[in-house]
Amino acid sequence: MGASDAGEVRSTCPYCGVGCGVRISHAAGHITAVAGDETHPANFGKLCSKGLALPKTLSRSSRLLQPQVRASRGEPRVPVSWDVALDHIADRFAGSIERHGPDSVAFYISGQLLTEDYYVFNKLAKGLIGTNNVDTNSRLCMSSAVAGYKATLGADAPPACYEDLDHAACLFIAGSNMAFAHPVLYRRIEEARRKRPDLKTIVVDPRRTDTAAEADLHLAIAPGTDVALFNAMLHVLLAEKRVDRGYIEAHTEGFEPLERELSACTPEWAAGVCEISADDIRLAARWFAEGPTLSLYCQGLNQSTSGTDKNATLVNLHLATGQIGRPGAGPFSLTGQPNAMGGREVGGMANLLSAHRDLSNAAHREEVAKLWGVKSVPDKRGKTAVELFEALNEGTVRCVWIACTNPAQSMPDQALVRAALARAELVVLQDCYADIETARFADVLLPAATWGEKEGTVTNSERRISRVRAAVAPPGEARADWEIACDFAHRLGHQLGRDGERLFPYTSAEEVFAEHCETTRGRDLDITGLSYAVIEERGPQQWPFPEGAAEGLARLYTEGRFPTASGRARFHVAGYTAPAEVPTELFPLRLTTGRLRDQWHGMTRTGRAASLHDHEPEPRVTMHPEDLATRGVEDGALVRVRGPRGTLTLRARSSDEVRRGDLFIPMHWGGRFLAGGGVNALTISRYDPHSFQPELKHAIAEVEGVVLP
Ligand code: SF4
Repeated sequence: MGASDAGEVRSTCPYCGVGCGVRISHAAGHITAVAGDETHPANFGKLCSKGLALPKTLSRSSRLLQPQVRASRGEPRVPVSWDVALDHIADRFAGSIERHGPDSVAFYISGQLLTEDYYVFNKLAKGLIGTNNVDTNSRLCMSSAVAGYKATLGADAPPACYEDLDHAACLFIAGSNMAFAHPVLYRRIEEARRKRPDLKTIVVDPRRTDTAAEADLHLAIAPGTDVALFNAMLHVLLAEKRVDRGYIEAHTEGFEPLERELSACTPEWAAGVCEISADDIRLAARWFAEGPTLSLYCQGLNQSTSGTDKNATLVNLHLATGQIGRPGAGPFSLTGQPNAMGGREVGGMANLLSAHRDLSNAAHREEVAKLWGVKSVPDKRGKTAVELFEALNEGTVRCVWIACTNPAQSMPDQALVRAALARAELVVLQDCYADIETARFADVLLPAATWGEKEGTVTNSERRISRVRAAVAPPGEARADWEIACDFAHRLGHQLGRDGERLFPYTSAEEVFAEHCETTRGRDLDITGLSYAVIEERGPQQWPFPEGAAEGLARLYTEGRFPTASGRARFHVAGYTAPAEVPTELFPLRLTTGRLRDQWHGMTRTGRAASLHDHEPEPRVTMHPEDLATRGVEDGALVRVRGPRGTLTLRARSSDEVRRGDLFIPMHWGGRFLAGGGVNALTISRYDPHSFQPELKHAIAEVEGVVLP
């Protein structure tokens, strides 16, 4: 692509899982404007403030332009060639593998990588090296939704689609501030409400977010008590004979034990646990049952030590009322990242295999080994995100390769993560920017191409696969992520005496995608009918899209058959369990975290656009006015937020949007902006035992005013 090139290419926004289509204008090697793609079925031309500001965030001043390596800790990194950098990493990885085995190395990748990047990293770890130590920041985002779907419906497949917003009579939004986190989808809800004033919205959220403030019914539950609420709602439906016995008998199993569990979950009991009124629980249950009801949910359910139970007990409500597989009805998890779905599809996590195969299934491991042409795929589950950093800290994992994510800000319990990165024998960071927190710990920096500079695909929340296209060439020596991983695989293959060239023969992202499609043949997400050419010709498509299909499926389970051994969906029996930490005398407040309207994740991108700081110019802790008053602190004063793992200093914001006893701190600001590090200096690394997703939404804390000298 020459510097004089000018024109427009269609691509996909790199932020949230709505997956909006964009038109990128470029001239003289630079992106000059971004507009919504009117033809894209996710957004029909609309973009939110973050998508519209994309050109302002593409600063090249902090871009990493050349690989850098340091010979030892304490020495500065020096610019080197790609050959020197990748040979150095291959030497160190091979040495560690030979001395300590394949599980002594690990990859920590990202839901912002494209499907093709994810595919290559997964194959590199599991196929070439022989370790399942490849996990991703999607572990912090979606893994409880995955476990919830598998426990109930038998497969990790969101059954609904965006069009269902236009057919639903009730929207049940749980643990999601869609107005900020999925704005274009929320605009669609606002339009639906204008057209259909009888459309009911219920929002379950401890905070009165912008989404909750506009709801017909806001259930401001105590943080972490969702399971008690969902169980009590089903108790009401049973007591009032509002369940669909015909659907339950024909299409599900396991309802009797659930009925027994629910007998004690009265609305009065749940009202005490959730700290809301029993009448509101009854009202929510009745609206839900009238339907069709579409549930939309995100991190409030997922980022919890009982995240799988929260997801699965919400699915119970849909199964018990037969509200699934028909227009306007179904459980619908929203993805926070642009390609958390694509990463799951290629099996790019420590407990998954390609095309939704299970690592614990010997036949599935054999299938993948055969597809890849390797002897075997290891059976031992790899280290999931928190476990990976714990293992680095213990010294059992020695070398880590981090791609397109910033764990020194985004992982919970930052003290532990930073100690782990400092202890590691080798930290490789592959990223487009050199000024993120994790770069401080990197022994090797590899310059990656970023959005607008590379080719590939992403899958959005409704299973729709869209193309991401290059509009300009990457600066300096930056390269596409999949290409860097392939080049490394060839070199490591030589060191280990394995044929890296045969396993990684790709010359384009399109070739990687074609191989990925082939691995899905006969699976629930079969996309053997897709190719770059098909997407080019027919536009973004939902999966499944098997060979010969004319289009993908908008909704799943329309026939009432589920991908379980019996073909029936399974009810999930779970009682309420409290979050990992309960308030104490020393730390009497409950901290929750979340997103703001104009920032995204750790602000690596959005933090570079001045206009995106206007909405919330600085990080603040939101507290109830009475909690501030009892501590003698005024609105806007500087406070210290102390927790068992760290302390943060920031300004207080007084608002009754939060309940008494609760605190809210946005997730976006890290150590570059906030003394003490970001909010993850305070969060806890305890995780759900099924999904391994950490409890980023709940920690204990105390607040005190800062006395200035
Ligand atoms: Fe991008 Fe999400 Fe905004 Fe769409 S809604 S423009 S995908 S951030």
